[in-house]
Amino acid sequence: MDLGIRGKRALVCASSKGLGRGCAEALAEAGVDLVLNARGAEALEATAAAIRAAHGVQVTAIAADITTEDGRAQVLAAVGPVDILVTNAGGPPPGLWSDWTRDDFIRALDANMLTPIALMTALMPAMIDRGWGRVVNITSQSVKGPIAQLGLSNAARTGLTGYVAGTARQVAPFGVIVNNLLPGIHDTDRATALDTGVTKAQGIDMDAARAQRMATIPARRYGTAAEFGAMCAFLASQHAGFIVGQNILLDGGATNVTM
Ligand code: NAP
Repeated sequence: MDLGIRGKRALVCASSKGLGRGCAEALAEAGVDLVLNARGAEALEATAAAIRAAHGVQVTAIAADITTEDGRAQVLAAVGPVDILVTNAGGPPPGLWSDWTRDDFIRALDANMLTPIALMTALMPAMIDRGWGRVVNITSQSVKGPIAQLGLSNAARTGLTGYVAGTARQVAPFGVIVNNLLPGIHDTDRATALDTGVTKAQGIDMDAARAQRMATIPARRYGTAAEFGAMCAFLASQHAGFIVGQNILLDGGATNVTM
């Protein structure tokens, strides 16, 4: 399928690895020029070089912490107007409800709610002026069904979801389409970190931790960054103009909900 976005320009945040990289790869395959971002310059430059070599698109890499005002200012100064915005950042650490402080909540809100909102606020006006834009926010299955030990994520991402629900309907008349992608478990460093926590908490090895998790997923496996990226590219495509303010689960059926 031709996604109809060859020659468009995208900012993909937190994209040297994992789901962000999966989105960047799929957009590059569709012919989209990219601005990539992550904190670690070495992995970011390596990813940028690999995508340039594989897909022949222009790739600019900006090493910065997207969750800080300074980092965002650096990215926004370099990026210029973009047609497609993919928001992403690392997820908050797991823990227990009774341990989290105000500072923990502020950090989670900054990273997983206020950062995507700031990026949309900065970049959507130019999309509106041009009458075309796409925003895909990477959130989590935790907005559909809470993951108890990820209370910081449950809270911050649900706040973003509420914001998007209203805002997506305000910008759609101008050709700007905003949706959220909700990952369940995917085979990335984040999943390894979460599973390492399980091995320590339960005194089991990694294979056992993964097998235990897979048994709870109807698809009986972890998702891949490539599958995730393909859905992101579709939501960024010309074909997605009638999909507005939706929360699309990619979780192998793990979240037991009817809608
Ligand atoms: P990952 O494999 O750990 O990759 C994270 C990427 O984001 C890396 O490129 C990392 O590079 C970059 N990054 C992290 N913090 C950043 C920051 N403050 N500023 C700029 N770049 C940053 O993680 P992932 O699995 O792709 O997860 C992506 C998001 O989806 C996370 O919010 C995660 O919580 C959420 N999620 C993931 C899963 C899953 O199973 N994988 C499930 C549900 C939700 P640097 O470290 O160099 O900055």
